[in-house]
Amino acid sequence: MTERKLLIGGEWVETGEWVEVRSPYSHEVVGRVAKAGAAEAKAAIDAAEQAMAEPLPAHKRAEILVKVVAGIARRHDEIAHQITAEAGKPLKAARVETSRAMSTYTFAAVEARKLAGEMVPMDAAQAGEGKLAFTLREPIGIVGAISPFNFPLNLVAHKLAPALAAGCAVVLKPASQTPLSALTLAELADEAGLPAGWLNVLVGPASEIGDVLVEDERVRAITFTGSSGVGWKLRERAARKKVLLELGNATPVIVHGDADLDEAAEKLAANAFSFAGQSCISVQRIYIQKWVYDDFVARFVAKVEDLVVGDPADEATDVGPVIDDESRERILSWIEEARDAGAEILAGGGPDGELIQPTVIANASLDMKVCREEVFGPVCVVNSYEALDEAISLANGTRFGLQAGIFTADIRAAMRAAHKLEFGGVIVNEAPTFRADQMPYGGVKDSGNTREGPPYAVRELTEHRLVVIDL
Ligand code: NAP
Repeated sequence: MTERKLLIGGEWVETGEWVEVRSPYSHEVVGRVAKAGAAEAKAAIDAAEQAMAEPLPAHKRAEILVKVVAGIARRHDEIAHQITAEAGKPLKAARVETSRAMSTYTFAAVEARKLAGEMVPMDAAQAGEGKLAFTLREPIGIVGAISPFNFPLNLVAHKLAPALAAGCAVVLKPASQTPLSALTLAELADEAGLPAGWLNVLVGPASEIGDVLVEDERVRAITFTGSSGVGWKLRERAARKKVLLELGNATPVIVHGDADLDEAAEKLAANAFSFAGQSCISVQRIYIQKWVYDDFVARFVAKVEDLVVGDPADEATDVGPVIDDESRERILSWIEEARDAGAEILAGGGPDGELIQPTVIANASLDMKVCREEVFGPVCVVNSYEALDEAISLANGTRFGLQAGIFTADIRAAMRAAHKLEFGGVIVNEAPTFRADQMPYGGVKDSGNTREGPPYAVRELTEHRLVVIDL
């Protein structure tokens, strides 16, 4: 069992109280972490303020980020197993996540070295004649970061690495269910020589720690990844801070009549059920052109039935548990609701011991929860359409707008979809679950208000400071 203390002001701190971390698969305790409250949150902000009083030069920040990459590489296997233990993520997906975190830190190190302001063409206006002006890129200030359970390493990396690249100290609150990976990253940053106070990690009651981050004026930005309800509420309450939101989706993909059906079926089956559908861009709704519907669905269901369901620590497993019993019950009840309302179950449809069978549902309408809301479970809906614009309108038919996709051989259809789909990203001939860590990633509508990926996150976490010189 792993035991971890909190990192506050460069000290590893115990509080006398603990948060237990349980495997979502075996329900055994796999670790415990010292429990923080409002007092520790305040101390963490004090430490961050003190750290920022002595800025770290960009080359030092870049060096530390690169050393963290080396640290992850050194402990790759251990870290992947830890993700599996705390999140129940199948080991092969946990290994991919671990490698992606290295990529996130690497791109952040590049951004730290490139950070620069810009010249302002002053004599372009009469008023500017005889003046020289440029901007400095200043760190926004202390960043409060809040992360979800589903990518406990790489989504924490997307909070910490760009903030440090931007020159900001961070107070991080990872998800209570999966705090171990975040604390491993803190350990690696500490070993890499990050001075005291630049990174502080608090694990404990979300609203208590969240309230301190929202209310303390020294925290200038809150970067939040998680559910829409919590995210938008935080933004409402922190009106005077920059609040960056990366939220949920009910991810749609269009399979147009001219698509390569084998390729689409294979990629979509893998990406609807990987980590039991608990990715914000897990394939949830597939719209298939009518004349290839039967062909595609037969191929797709066959691929789904080939997925290996079971122990996430087994190298062969594709689909493991969902995060907790409450989520399991909710997902099963949404499947029942669709079935009762007349939808047809083509695969799965119920429990598989303690797990949920990969489930494919046909003829579910947009007013059913399995279409309208984010399932965040191993459930995927297939429906047919006649013309492309109908599919686009169905895809746009929820409150979400993170990423969408289209499979087609027709560049005009692909570009029409790219223009008309109201999403932060449109992926062509690949599952809409695709993400490389340098991409601008984020949503519109209820799915968020920012773009993550180090080049974009660093922009969000720095401000242009104008300097005008009279010559
Ligand atoms: P969540 O329940 O919203 O929790 C996310 C984080 O917010 C956790 O650290 C949680 O702490 C904290 N939190 C909860 N209530 C809070 C409050 N009142 N004040 C401050 N913090 C609070 O989400 P989740 O179940 O962990 O993650 C799943 C969601 O994240 C899905 O909707 C998914 O789509 C979304 N997501 C989005 C992206 C993206 O990049 N767009 C990526 C991954 C996931 P506790 O754990 O202590 O409750």
